[in-house]
Amino acid sequence: MNEHYQTLIIGGGISGLTIAHKLRLQKPGHRFLVLEKGQRTGGVIASHRDQGYITEIGPHGFLDNCPESRQILTETGLDRECLKAPLIDFVRYVRLNGRLNLIPQTPRKILMAPLIPWSAKLRVLAELWQPVLQGEPTVAKWVAHRFGPALLPYLDAVYTGTYAGDFDRLTIDSVMPGIRALEKEHGSVLRGLLHKLRQNKKERAASTPLRMPAMTSFPEGMQRLPERLAENLRQNQDLLLSTEVIAVQPAGNGWQVETSKGRFQAADVVFALPINAALRLLANIDPSLPEKAVPEAWIATVVLGFKDTVRLPPGFGFLTPERERRFALGALFSSNMFPGRAPAGHIVFETLVGGRRHPERLELDDRTLTGKAFDDVREILNIRSEPVYTTVLRSNGAIPQLERNYPTLLAWRKKLLASYPGLHICGFGWEGIGLNDMMKSASRVAEEILSSAGRIQKDADIKGVYF
Ligand SMILES: Cc1cc2nc3c(=O)[nH]c(=O)nc-3n(C[C@H](O)[C@H](O)[C@H](O)COP(=O)(O)OP(=O)(O)OC[C@H]3O[C@@H](n4cnc5c(N)ncnc54)[C@H](O)[C@@H]3O)c2cc1C
Repeated sequence: MNEHYQTLIIGGGISGLTIAHKLRLQKPGHRFLVLEKGQRTGGVIASHRDQGYITEIGPHGFLDNCPESRQILTETGLDRECLKAPLIDFVRYVRLNGRLNLIPQTPRKILMAPLIPWSAKLRVLAELWQPVLQGEPTVAKWVAHRFGPALLPYLDAVYTGTYAGDFDRLTIDSVMPGIRALEKEHGSVLRGLLHKLRQNKKERAASTPLRMPAMTSFPEGMQRLPERLAENLRQNQDLLLSTEVIAVQPAGNGWQVETSKGRFQAADVVFALPINAALRLLANIDPSLPEKAVPEAWIATVVLGFKDTVRLPPGFGFLTPERERRFALGALFSSNMFPGRAPAGHIVFETLVGGRRHPERLELDDRTLTGKAFDDVREILNIRSEPVYTTVLRSNGAIPQLERNYPTLLAWRKKLLASYPGLHICGFGWEGIGLNDMMKSASRVAEEILSSAGRIQKDADIKGVYF
């Protein structure tokens, strides 16, 4: 087999599927092929449907504040079926000093909340006069320097919730490049944000109010998203499953891709892969790559179902900073978030374990893991009965950790892309780690492939911090 295509897409996760969807929609005659090594599409997105419980092996949802992902929902009709849980209605908690502390939802409420003393709130304002830290500071070091140490447990919770990461290792330049750029440009994050706010106010139509985003999922779980995107792909024509890409090399004006099922050629090739899977293949194209791999965080979810005589606190769930020294990273109150997650008369919540700091906990067998996770949360949630349903879900992919030297890796990628116009690289860990990041960068790659204008330059996003 030595077939020619216009575009070969390596990886059938949300990144690869988004590109395929956009190419099909915007140029139906464009000849592309998605090469996926697994037996199914969706990558790390996988829902677990069992005995009336719907839980998630991978992502639980995404915020509706990204224009690119909203557009994909509209284009696929998923906007008519998706479920939304607005952050303004669903509170979140941080477990501190052995109890659940409600996180206030708006800047005014944060300012008035008794969570941190007034002296610490004034210290936050002193950020306006802090010098810019040079080098690649960790998130913890940078936050303590700019805003004071009182915010550290909350930021730890944020990065536990998003990266399952360790904020003593994640670097601010890697995880918040937009905020770091603002700090460097204005000498202060707060001053930079005020400037942006004033600018946006002028540009935004007076009728568009600022609002808190909503968490989005689907009645059958997150897997519905890749399943819907894959519906329009014809197997063995646009999509080859169980096909692992082994090597990629430039050939003539295009690319030759060697797979477990033969060779393919195309003018454009897209690496829509988790960063480490991409680096393994890219090393053959440019052996000067500065890092062979980035660190990763694995997590397991312990699902606990109960009769509905057990009552969960209202809201999404809670996160636990490391200093609390607990077993679980936190818990998601699944049956509060979306309807139909547990059979009638029952509730379910999902406890997260492992992460960058505690990979050893994932070595435990399911029974021990379940027992330890339940012991960890039963007291804080005041649960006096035993679960009627338990299962352990181990994710089929790890979360890339954007730590030291990650910016060097991005600079290397930029140079590589400049040398090869037909090469495209997006996917898990390249421009963020969330689903919105993936749909955004994959949409941009599709646009680049279809337009003759070449690469689209963009500034780093200024992302909100949500628990
Ligand atoms: C446990 C967990 C929880 C998460 N929770 C959230 C959340 O709540 N909200 C959120 O926004 N994001 C969350 N994320 C992140 C989100 O899931 C990812 O950003 C996104 O799914 C990554 O999509 P992708 O297509 O880039 O990569 P993947 O989903 O990893 O897909 C890549 C695909 O490439 C295939 N592949 C790999 N190597 C090859 C090869 N050599 N040849 C062919 N195919 C190959 C793989 O089999 C896979 O199907 C979570 C991630 C994990 C792991």
